Amino acid sequence: MVLAPEHPLVEKLTTEEHRAAVDAYRLQADRQTEIERTAADKEKTGVFIGAYAINPVNGRRIPIWIADYVMVTYGTGAIMAVPAHDERDFAFALKFGLPIIPVIERPDDLAKSAVWDGSVPGDFGAALSAAGFAWEWLAIPDRGRFYAVTLHGDEQVRAYVALLQAHLKAGHWADVVGRGWQVVFHDGPLALDSAAADAAIMARCHAGYDYTRQFATPMSMWWAVEWYRNVLYHADYGTMIHSEAFSGTAGAVAKAQVTRWLAEQGVGKFAVNYRLRDWLISRQRYWGAPIPIIYCPACGTVPAPYEDLPVLLPEDAEIPATGENALKFHAGFLNVRCPQCGGAAQRETDTMDTFMCSSWYHYAYVTPYWKAGQKLRPDDTPWEPDAGNYWLPVDQYTGGPEHATMHLLYTRFFTKALRDMGVAPFAEPMLRLFNQGIILGPDGNRMSKSKGNVVAPDEWVERYGADTVRAYLMFIGPWDAGGPWNSQGIEGVRRFLERVWNVVAEDEGQASGGRSQGPKIAAQVRELQHVTHKTLRKVTEDIEAFKFNTLLAALMEFNNYLVKARETAVYGTSAWEEALDMLLLMLAPETPHIAEELWQRRVQTRRVSENPSGLFQAADSIHVQPWPVWDPELAKAETVILVVQINGKVRDKIEAAADIGEAEARELALASPMIQRWLEGKTVRKVIFAGGKLLNFVVS
Ligand SMILES: [Zn+2]
Repeated sequence: MVLAPEHPLVEKLTTEEHRAAVDAYRLQADRQTEIERTAADKEKTGVFIGAYAINPVNGRRIPIWIADYVMVTYGTGAIMAVPAHDERDFAFALKFGLPIIPVIERPDDLAKSAVWDGSVPGDFGAALSAAGFAWEWLAIPDRGRFYAVTLHGDEQVRAYVALLQAHLKAGHWADVVGRGWQVVFHDGPLALDSAAADAAIMARCHAGYDYTRQFATPMSMWWAVEWYRNVLYHADYGTMIHSEAFSGTAGAVAKAQVTRWLAEQGVGKFAVNYRLRDWLISRQRYWGAPIPIIYCPACGTVPAPYEDLPVLLPEDAEIPATGENALKFHAGFLNVRCPQCGGAAQRETDTMDTFMCSSWYHYAYVTPYWKAGQKLRPDDTPWEPDAGNYWLPVDQYTGGPEHATMHLLYTRFFTKALRDMGVAPFAEPMLRLFNQGIILGPDGNRMSKSKGNVVAPDEWVERYGADTVRAYLMFIGPWDAGGPWNSQGIEGVRRFLERVWNVVAEDEGQASGGRSQGPKIAAQVRELQHVTHKTLRKVTEDIEAFKFNTLLAALMEFNNYLVKARETAVYGTSAWEEALDMLLLMLAPETPHIAEELWQRRVQTRRVSENPSGLFQAADSIHVQPWPVWDPELAKAETVILVVQINGKVRDKIEAAADIGEAEARELALASPMIQRWLEGKTVRKVIFAGGKLLNFVVS
């Protein structure tokens, strides 16, 4: 049981013997901020207060500790720790040698067992292999090597324990962790299923082995074997174990069942606690939004008049070394005339947190019409209603999931307040939310200075250009998943853009109608148009679905197609010119610079032939062109006639997509009643699929 150091019961429950340590601990906890105290990587600290709580489920005594990672403002400020299934509780119990009893089964059925070399006869490895257990030799410096056995499921654990038991030499032992938790001594196993068992196991280990005396619990002993670590702790919902009457309760219903039982016993009830942090005003920075209040010795608290709004911060405030609020020492800001009596008065010097602004600044963007010196009137609104009706609410919000509990929560709060005030004719600030993933370091971990895995985009922009880095970030994986940075991957994107440059910049821009005529070129042109419009459809759909990685893959494929098509008769046809225009228009959102540069060259090349004095204008920019529209007829997959044979004889002809694969072709053929009739009573020995045009069933 862990209480927050500030919990009111601490004073009452602490025994005389522990009071000095508890008081000292509370003092140091008080000096830290909530953020420092709850940081996940912080070394766990705490002290025992000398008192015990009674577990209402089994009547056993539980020691009461205080620890600064428990906040009095969060929930009840008292937690019943579950060290085997909560990361912070686990670290805490490990550090202070408190028993850690697994009470939830791992949803995967993984178990591990380390058997030290010498504790079993030399034929143990052969016996393991013969019985079908997976194992390998691993070693720990200064401790020697061990059989590292990996097990799956209760049945395998049971069979393994029997085999292990039969091989253990007198006075030796080995453990099974992850599932079927136990220590197998040569004369029988002890399960780690209760605090009493935890003590019994350690007593036996301490008596028999000097090495184990440095450990207080089996869990801390196992933690020393690094290979064990990934199965010692988990926070997944699984079946309850080692929980007396509740053992066997499925994870999905466990919370509800235990809570119901506690309620029936009259010792507990189910509750959901909500908490909105008082973040807005509580942290002082002088660069926050000023609070428009004036204090007059005669009139008291007076709001700053409308025509004086907004109250602006001074730009020359000096931040005192004492950390005090700079505004308190800025005479020009501080001293004002009272709006009511005209006497000497002072401004409020506290400011509001920057969340005050970020909660509604997107509305101010709609009509940023306030100009310095302009007077505001009481009937002014934060934005012009006509513009607001057009732009608001925001159609699409994208950001990381870290915005969910602060920025987005406050934004909704502000919007609902504006709605209640009659300013906003809507209740939600944004209609759609898309959370992007996080780009990880090259090692697959979150980028952090301490891990030394931070990739600074500026260096890569310097080397490969902003377009390459931007496109690579889109290409790295699904946009909502993120993924690790890969230096080779970025080179692939760079080469793609170089190929785009070659295809477009080296084009001479002659829409001449083609180099040759005839039916062959008509078919090639038709294929080019099909590929162009099919790509445009795919890219348009992907952009709307935030699938930037597959969008770029489609553009790479399209560009490769163009590289080959350039060598054919389609080069220079109007279909070719359309394909290049489309390629650039589709690239404009992803790689804006190269797209604009190539677009400008194409526009100017055309101008030279049409109107030599024509300059590139802002209206010519690729970024103001409408998004192209695909022709559904052209985008439609080309079809071919699939010839279906049985033992080499043509039995049916079916229309199919030109790019049909073998599995789909087979499915299509088997759906034909004609083919079904021919196959009746026969066994298919072999299927031959040729070139997407022929499918032959060899039957007998
Ligand atoms: Zn006054």
